[in-house]
Amino acid sequence: MSPVGIGYDSHRLVAGRRLMLGGVEIPSDLGLHGHSDADVLTHAIIDALLGAAGLGDIGEHFPDTDERYLNADSLHLLATVLTRILTSGFELENVDVTVVMERPKLGPHRDAIRTRLADALGMDRARVNVKATTGEGIGFVGRGEGVAALAIVSLKERV
Ligand SMILES: [Zn+2]
Repeated sequence: MSPVGIGYDSHRLVAGRRLMLGGVEIPSDLGLHGHSDADVLTHAIIDALLGAAGLGDIGEHFPDTDERYLNADSLHLLATVLTRILTSGFELENVDVTVVMERPKLGPHRDAIRTRLADALGMDRARVNVKATTGEGIGFVGRGEGVAALAIVSLKERV
């Protein structure tokens, strides 16, 4: 069996916060609001991983009421989840993500994000795909109020 999991997340854009996406800081006058570093892309991947392995969701594992996760580096949370996935007898097949963001443009940062995520997941870069699209000026993304991310992950049961 090759279980798959889906992940979705969104965060509000506010002044005075860093914009972290896939563990990479993107130069921007607005950043994402949240209890942790609000890395929306990494959160979507975490939820996809947990979903594929049947292990619940990010809120159960890292409650935003827990002081330990205040301003947490989401790549550390990802590493924790990855360990749980691997010890549950799975390995990662591929990861595909889409960031939905009006500005700044993600294009120039896509390679850096891909490399960072592949390293964090211990995967070949070819199996980690990062895509970006905009909100076409409509909805909360289009109005520049927030950023959303979707992820899908495929696992393989280790024999
Ligand atoms: Zn989140």
